[in-house]
Amino acid sequence: MKDSHGRTIDYMRISITDRCNLRCKYCMPEDIPSIPHEKILRFEEILHICRLAGELGIRKFKVTGGEPLVRKGCLAFLKNLKELPATEQVTLTTNGTLLSGHLPELKKIGLDGINISLDTLNEQTFERITGRPEFSRVMDSVVACQASGIRTKVNSVLLQDINKNEFLSLVHLARDYQVDVRFIEIMPIGSGRQYRGCSRQELLSMLSETYPDYVQVHEHRGNGPAAYIYLPGFKGCIGFIDAIHGKFCSTCNRVRLTSDGLLKLCLYYENGIDLCSMLRSGHSDSSILAAMERAILKKPEEHQFHFTALEGPAEERRMSQIGG
Ligand code: SAM
Ligand code: SF4
Repeated sequence: MKDSHGRTIDYMRISITDRCNLRCKYCMPEDIPSIPHEKILRFEEILHICRLAGELGIRKFKVTGGEPLVRKGCLAFLKNLKELPATEQVTLTTNGTLLSGHLPELKKIGLDGINISLDTLNEQTFERITGRPEFSRVMDSVVACQASGIRTKVNSVLLQDINKNEFLSLVHLARDYQVDVRFIEIMPIGSGRQYRGCSRQELLSMLSETYPDYVQVHEHRGNGPAAYIYLPGFKGCIGFIDAIHGKFCSTCNRVRLTSDGLLKLCLYYENGIDLCSMLRSGHSDSSILAAMERAILKKPEEHQFHFTALEGPAEERRMSQIGG
């Protein structure tokens, strides 16, 4: 469906859990309390919402978390989501620690793509950022995932003074493997407020010192807001998702469902509709559908992250609770 700003909304990010087996500094503090199990949507409830979302024209789903693969039953859920009548695409965003053993099953399900988050190729820096010594498992997953034939993207968040110096090594993953590598600008949400990230401009000027002949990719690649470039001879492309410096709200196509059932219309704003309460208090499908439709129509025109430093953030949830 279209929202009141004329944008086609056809994509939903679904966080199936707020729990995670890593503790990336900018995402999730060590001691964060988890949402009680009974408040987390059951898979049948998520599928129910997705079926209704399909009726509104939402056809592409990204399953995320926390870490989606820590939730028992994640693979069966992905299969069921893929089989809903309106579904065109199901993709997964994961930290990669638990992925490699599941790849044959994910391939069988027909998963349309996997994004693996990896911010560094250095074991020590990996442990410094994520708090866990899991670098080799994640790297093995990247290699196995692209070899499996499932479309693979690596997502990296670069932080000043921590891993910015690894930019080129991460770029080279797209030279050596069949992967797109995307650099996500850190957003001032949760612990992310304490770090300074890198804009696309800064990264492109670093890149052009080594690769002055990079080429802008004009055709659309994927469902998201990434702007891509291509480096001659590379197997994959390099993407930039700079939500702050390169605001892309005018082409935003997405809504988010948190693990406790809030339909969130914009990453920046805290509000949304509490679909969990509606489902559990016995609202009919038609009234839930009408509420979803009204909410999507009123999707905010744009985020206001650039005001965050002055006014304080509008969203108090952490990225691990929202799903990125
Ligand atoms: N655990 C999975 C993973 O790491 O891919 C899925 C959830 S994680 C919240 C999704 C993405 O959000 C990751 O790529 C992570 O780097 C990114 N992320 C977390 N906090 C962020 C922030 N403050 N700004 C920008 N991206 C962030
Ligand atoms: Fe976990 Fe992903 Fe957040 Fe890292 S970015 S703490 S892997 S949810």
